[in-house]
Amino acid sequence: PLVLGIETSCDETGVAIVRGSELLTDVTASSMDEHARYGGIVPEVASRAHLEAFLPTLDTALERADVDLSEVDAIAVTAGPGLVGSLTVGAAAAKALALGTGKPLYGVNHVIGHAAVDELVHGPFPERFVSLVVSGGHSSLLLVDDIATGVRELGQTLDDAAGEAFDKVGRLLGLPYPGGPHVDRLSREGDREAIRFPRGLTAGKDKERYAYDFSFSGLKTAVARYVEGYQDRGENVPAADVAAGFSESVAEVLVTKSLAACERNGCDTLVIGGGFSANSRLRELAAEEAEDRGITVRIPPIRYCTDNGAMIAALGSALVRSGAAPSSLDLPTDSGMPLETVRV
Ligand code: ATP
Ligand code: MG
Ligand code: FE
Repeated sequence: PLVLGIETSCDETGVAIVRGSELLTDVTASSMDEHARYGGIVPEVASRAHLEAFLPTLDTALERADVDLSEVDAIAVTAGPGLVGSLTVGAAAAKALALGTGKPLYGVNHVIGHAAVDELVHGPFPERFVSLVVSGGHSSLLLVDDIATGVRELGQTLDDAAGEAFDKVGRLLGLPYPGGPHVDRLSREGDREAIRFPRGLTAGKDKERYAYDFSFSGLKTAVARYVEGYQDRGENVPAADVAAGFSESVAEVLVTKSLAACERNGCDTLVIGGGFSANSRLRELAAEEAEDRGITVRIPPIRYCTDNGAMIAALGSALVRSGAAPSSLDLPTDSGMPLETVRV
């Protein structure tokens, strides 16, 4: 099927077109530059940016794929989770297009989209796999039997997402927003064994009880205390070692729990998605540790890890191919959409 995918859950306006599991085009406009000076996403600004960017982005996608709207078999749009105002703009646009063309509409889960997009890059999924979705807003472990119908939530973060923790540590170290990539770069110059920061939910009773959950706020506090100690003494903060020790803690926890999830659920494939999968230590450690265990790690190229329309088109296409019923034309958006709901 020819499926149009629309993504507007946060600050990226994404429109993509897939045929089956072949990506024809993927166009993204971002309002990040407008948010950077506020040090965080301003929802009102993001919504307005979607409104302005949507039609030009759609036109560019149709033109590049050489597709007429009337040829599309289905329209997929992010129904949640995400910012209410941002989701509403995309959903309203998708409903209007579905109404105008008479094509079925699928309101889909953004987090599951982050896993689904890998099919466009690395081919069909195995019968069962584990997916780690890590970004500025999410850190979740999914067990997937069928991306269209059988997704189970194994766990997620109890507090901060991985990218969020990086952004906060970036601020502590005086780096520009968003701090994640800067902390990553700095960590490459440090010694990752010089400072050992805590590994959240990996020891004692937590290890079993929260086997697949994450917690990064204790780690962030530990980093803050450490940095403040130096500042109070009027000494220079060993920023590269702090970044390296912090990155090591996050990567180790994510990789250990993801691979344990694979082993305990009989999966030989781990699919990683979300903007945080750009993190160099996560990639390195996942590749090393997975190889030792005979597990294949699939990570799409970065442009498909950050928010984009291709992930939504991919999931929409999987739903159409599985014979799933479309969503209603008055589908709700849900900022807190549960991880097990693939489609509203
Ligand atoms: P979501 O996808 O959950 O709606 P988002 O738009 O904030 O939220 P993404 O754009 O997918 O998420 O990812 C951005 C996050 O990833 C930011 O927190 C950013 O700092 C972090 N990030 C990006 N690259 C790196 C990196 N190399 N190392 C660490 N963090 C990174
Ligand atoms: Mg983003
Ligand atoms: Fe996302």
